[in-house]
Amino acid sequence: MGKCISVSVCGIIQSKKMFAAYFDCPGGPENLYMKEVMKPHPGEGEVLVKVSASALNRADLLQRRGKYPPPKGASDILGLEAAGSVAGLGPGCTGCWKIGDAVMALLSGGGQAQYVTVPEGHLMPIPKGMTFIQAAAIPEAWLTAFQLLHFVGKVQEGETVLIHAGASGVGMAAIQLVRLAKAIPIVTAGTQEKLKATANAGAAAGFNYKNEDFSERVLEFTQGSGVDIILDCVGGSYWEKNLNCLSTDGRWIIYGLLSGGEVHGDLLARLLSKRASIHTSLLRSRDKEASNGYQQSVQFDHKIDGSFLLKPYKERLVRAFTQDVLPSFSEGASPRLQPLVDSVYPLHAIAEAHRAMEENRNSGKIVIEVPV
Ligand code: NAP
Repeated sequence: MGKCISVSVCGIIQSKKMFAAYFDCPGGPENLYMKEVMKPHPGEGEVLVKVSASALNRADLLQRRGKYPPPKGASDILGLEAAGSVAGLGPGCTGCWKIGDAVMALLSGGGQAQYVTVPEGHLMPIPKGMTFIQAAAIPEAWLTAFQLLHFVGKVQEGETVLIHAGASGVGMAAIQLVRLAKAIPIVTAGTQEKLKATANAGAAAGFNYKNEDFSERVLEFTQGSGVDIILDCVGGSYWEKNLNCLSTDGRWIIYGLLSGGEVHGDLLARLLSKRASIHTSLLRSRDKEASNGYQQSVQFDHKIDGSFLLKPYKERLVRAFTQDVLPSFSEGASPRLQPLVDSVYPLHAIAEAHRAMEENRNSGKIVIEVPV
């Protein structure tokens, strides 16, 4: 690793500076190092969070390789999610949060640092009894899965949902959210260990895409009718099999392209023959968008006042999740949701964490612990 610093940084946090995971040139994990940077200041409607833990996402790997620049106005520090405590309030905050509150944050960047600023509407309270490490595993993966299922796919009770990369951070969240919606999750994954982990998380069936044709197995499982929804982060290499095992009128939701985006073949004819629809979704780039209306909203809107519909997309997403899903993480909830943490790395060992994800070693989330 480059200029890795493993010493205590206690003296720094009182100053105007902080440490952050950083890279100067796009490239491999070896380019990552701890950099002393200016501590951010909360702007209008923003909260300053003292970060205790963050978690890794595939987007961090792409950004490090120079293939996924942060959206306009976002921090160029890595990290799309964080858990910690409120350390400051910017002008115009509405009193939802107070200093010391334990929070988790959906970010468009900046989480892998000692402090981060975030719009107050992108924060969620940490459920009672949950550690910062567990909480850091929630925002990006769970809000993505929730959004795909409810905002985009509009999953219904009793439907069958095929989740590719079932043991990924997003996949493990999606399995549990499909169960919560009283629908049936089935998965694909690349190892038996991962399939076992997905079964423990609630998958009704799982297929190893490396040694069997998942589309045939899905058709067997659904007695020939196919799945109602496919959550697909793999893309090009799966298109034909996806269409083999998608039901008539099925929804194929593409939210990642781990195998690339090229499609060779008569995609449109196959799609039309099933009256199937393709949806695509990207969460990060929605950052500052104003609401784009009722149509794209959720089934939960009926519980929410009219002003909610005028809020920006991410704020609506966070609020719907807080209201409808967060209580299911608490003791006594049934089914009880669990953030699934694969491993924890200290911030100064972030390059190792990137390697683990790049080698597909994780089932669930890789969490980054940030020094006090
Ligand atoms: P993750 O935990 O790193 O898991 C990804 C898994 O995908 C790998 O462990 C591997 O599992 C599988 N995989 C990798 N390359 C593959 C390939 N070529 N073909 C088939 N499977 C492959 O990932 P994550 O952070 O949860 O993210 C999952 C996906 O969601 C990523 O594509 C990410 O970009 C996307 N994402 C999208 C959004 C959005 O808003 N659109 C938001 C968050 C994440 P196996 O060992 O089982 O192969």
